[in-house]
Amino acid sequence: MKLVFLPAILLMDRISYSTKFILVIALFAVPMSVTSIQNIVSDQAIIDADKSRLVGIELLRKVDILTPSLENVRDLSLVRRGHIDKEVRDAYQKAKDKALGKLALLDRDVRLTENKLYSLALNGIENRLVHSRASTGSEGDMLNTIFESSMMLVNDAYELNGIIANSFGVSSETDPMIQMLLNLLTVELRAVTEEVGRSRAYGAYYLQSKFMNSSDIEFIEKNYHSLGVLENRLREKLKLLFITNAKTQYQDVIDLRSLAGISSVRHSVEDSLVLDVDFTTQWQDYYADLSSHIETTSSLKADLFRFITTLYEKRIVEKERLLKYRGIGFGALVLISAYLFVGFYLSSKRSIGSLVSAAHSVAEGNLDAPVEVSTKDEMLELADMMDSMRIQLKERQQELVLMTITDGLTQIRNRKYFNEELSRCMNNQRRSASPVSLLLIDVDHFKKLNDNFGHQAGDVCLQRLAKTIESQLLRKEDSVSRYGGEEFAVLLPSTREQGASEAASRISDAIKKLSIDDGNGNRLSFTVSIGIASSTNIDTGDKLIRAADEALYEAKSRGRDRWAVSEV
Ligand code: GH3
Ligand code: MG
Ligand code: MG
Repeated sequence: MKLVFLPAILLMDRISYSTKFILVIALFAVPMSVTSIQNIVSDQAIIDADKSRLVGIELLRKVDILTPSLENVRDLSLVRRGHIDKEVRDAYQKAKDKALGKLALLDRDVRLTENKLYSLALNGIENRLVHSRASTGSEGDMLNTIFESSMMLVNDAYELNGIIANSFGVSSETDPMIQMLLNLLTVELRAVTEEVGRSRAYGAYYLQSKFMNSSDIEFIEKNYHSLGVLENRLREKLKLLFITNAKTQYQDVIDLRSLAGISSVRHSVEDSLVLDVDFTTQWQDYYADLSSHIETTSSLKADLFRFITTLYEKRIVEKERLLKYRGIGFGALVLISAYLFVGFYLSSKRSIGSLVSAAHSVAEGNLDAPVEVSTKDEMLELADMMDSMRIQLKERQQELVLMTITDGLTQIRNRKYFNEELSRCMNNQRRSASPVSLLLIDVDHFKKLNDNFGHQAGDVCLQRLAKTIESQLLRKEDSVSRYGGEEFAVLLPSTREQGASEAASRISDAIKKLSIDDGNGNRLSFTVSIGIASSTNIDTGDKLIRAADEALYEAKSRGRDRWAVSEV
């Protein structure tokens, strides 16, 4: 496992923390953001596609208004066959004008005229409409042929519908419910309207000619039967549609009266053509009656268009809401990640910075500043360990410093310490005119003691002597150092000659009382001579030492076991 990550580890080992962060952003955060933005953009594209479909449906509905007037032209063209009377001609011309009027209205919609294919189709309809003449037809012309050729007008309108459906993405709809609704509109209802058109055109023609041969009767019976089949089929499809979509009730969408339009057509066909053998119904009444039924049926189309529009609107609202939530979620995620990321970066940078500067400070010899970090993570562990290293180092250094100023034999301060302490006292004196006293203590006839009892005994005596002098010092600023051999120096800061003499007297007395066991059954005792020098204005320590030395010399020469004061 470790081997797999080795290249990554080696890479990370070689780059700084800030580069690591930038690398992580570049390789992780940026692609994540890009993907999320892409998702949002593609979601928006889906919504836009639905909006385009919504426009498409609106336009389909508009164009569909044209269809009934084209159907009217188609049907009247059949009625006119072989009967050139003014009424039919006028009715036909009126139907044509009405259809052209509706076409002109459509022309004005920019959303449609922008589309080249659409404009071409629209022009095609216009041309066909303008040039269509209701040919009286030759005797040999079958009614069927005339109907089919006039049907091309209506088919042109359907083609127009197809262009719109394709251009606005309606035909690429994948939702089964909407697909079924569109199928109802473009297949089922078209079949119905075509059949109803046949009833109207053929029926009016027969009524007008007041004649039906056997094949005409057969045709009208077939038409009557077809209407029934188509109506049932339509009802079943609608039922199926609303069963599969439990959320929507059938009656909420479809006005059931519009379905009754088809039944009414059948009744009219039955009453006026099948049952009435005398053709008592006027063709105009029959035509008007069926036209009103057709209108009822076309309101079914309007219902379905309205329903599809509602479905699209709902879907758009839903998708927009989801997109909004996704956008908010993504935005929040980005903000929180960025916030935490920056926090993480700054926190790491601060801890590393603290550790680095603490390490620098220790490297420069400053062992007093504690190593601290404000985090509670591994950095804290590291900082704690570094701090205990610092403390150990400091203790070790203090020990070393102590060793350099401690006398090995007596464990009191040594000459080096004494020199430093003396110069400190002299500096202090110069600043504050504070008095300083120095006692130089020398063991009397120590050579003899060594000679008589041995050096080891002499060493023990020196140790006891040091402790004894130390025990006689009253203030914590007072210090005793081994000046050399069997000589000791006592520094008494802020002490005048009087105080120094008292200290000398105390020390001298205490030493005299010593009775030291040398380990060989001998009890050793000795005396000391002390030279005292006190000063309030001497500028160097050397002068003070010289004066104390002179006083010591005097004490020795005056018979030892005494102290003398030097006049400074
Ligand atoms: P005086 O009264 O004139 O001071 O006589 P003294 O014998 O004490 O003086 P001197 O300077 O002749 O001798 C000092 C002796 O102190 C010499 C040396 O052997 C002894 N001495 C110095 N340092 C040590 C030490 O560390 N241990 C021992 N045992 N003796 C020491
Ligand atoms: Mg001496
Ligand atoms: Mg001596």
